[in-house]
Amino acid sequence: MPGPIDLHTHSSVSDGTETPTQLVRAAVAAGLGTMAITDHDSTAGWQEAIATASGTGLTIITGMELSTNYGPASVHVLAYLFDPLDPDVITETARIRDGRLHRAEKIVERIAADYDLTWDDVLAESSDGTTLGRPHIADALVRKGHVPNRSAAFESILHWRGGYYEKYYAPSPLEGVRMIVAAGGVPVLAHPATYGKYRPMDDSVIRKLTDEGLFGLEVGHRDNTEDGKARLLKLAKKLGLEITGSSDYHGAGKPNRLAENSTSPEVLEKLVARATGSQPAYS
Ligand code: AMP
Ligand code: FE
Ligand code: FE
Ligand code: ZN
Repeated sequence: MPGPIDLHTHSSVSDGTETPTQLVRAAVAAGLGTMAITDHDSTAGWQEAIATASGTGLTIITGMELSTNYGPASVHVLAYLFDPLDPDVITETARIRDGRLHRAEKIVERIAADYDLTWDDVLAESSDGTTLGRPHIADALVRKGHVPNRSAAFESILHWRGGYYEKYYAPSPLEGVRMIVAAGGVPVLAHPATYGKYRPMDDSVIRKLTDEGLFGLEVGHRDNTEDGKARLLKLAKKLGLEITGSSDYHGAGKPNRLAENSTSPEVLEKLVARATGSQPAYS
């Protein structure tokens, strides 16, 4: 479909504030041609998104933002058009979501020693099966009046150096890329230059991921620094990686607006051609 291609969005299946139905309606209203639904570590929104998009002209690319750990750094891998019934994907994402749940409980326990906050407050900000994360704790903190919004929560209480932080289980980027490729999917490194000069992954590691089937780098993302984007563009050229651009829309949970960054039709075409696990849902 003509219209912008946005390959990174979140629904309330993870930490977006809109249900998959509301997310798709927002994408249609924004005039998108293609939208990927990429909730953290979950495919639970796929069916609802496809059903809602049916007949609207919006193409849905089914996807996920897979959590991985690279030493102390959390590295996000966008995974497109993989087989959602792949046993390894099912087992591994369930393990990550379970780890996130217990990790969130730990963080809340620590916060509760200093602030009026209960586990039930956090559960009230999510629904059954949601991939729980700090954004849901942030929403509970906002509701209790401890902070004005999510961003403020992340800059203080929920900051990784804020005194309450806890990590959660995730595979390595290499394991993640291998798993997605084995499931017929297409992996793209999400916002790989978020922290300016701080490089969680050296070029040599990205080269190794490329050998394992990494398809591209999400260069167009508001959190990538300008220096970082220039470095990524050079690296992509050197390694033969594709370039994507996306919004990372979270509804009201972040200022990011749909299609504020987008991907070229040529790159989308290559991505779709590479995938063997799922097909785009054209409508
Ligand atoms: P977690 O995976 O639970 O550690 O939480 C990280 C998630 O929080 C990411 O997926 C982001 O979407 C979200 N996030 C990070 N920083 C912010 C922020 N400043 N405002 C809103 N959401 C944020
Ligand atoms: Fe998120
Ligand atoms: Fe991310
Ligand atoms: Zn994201």
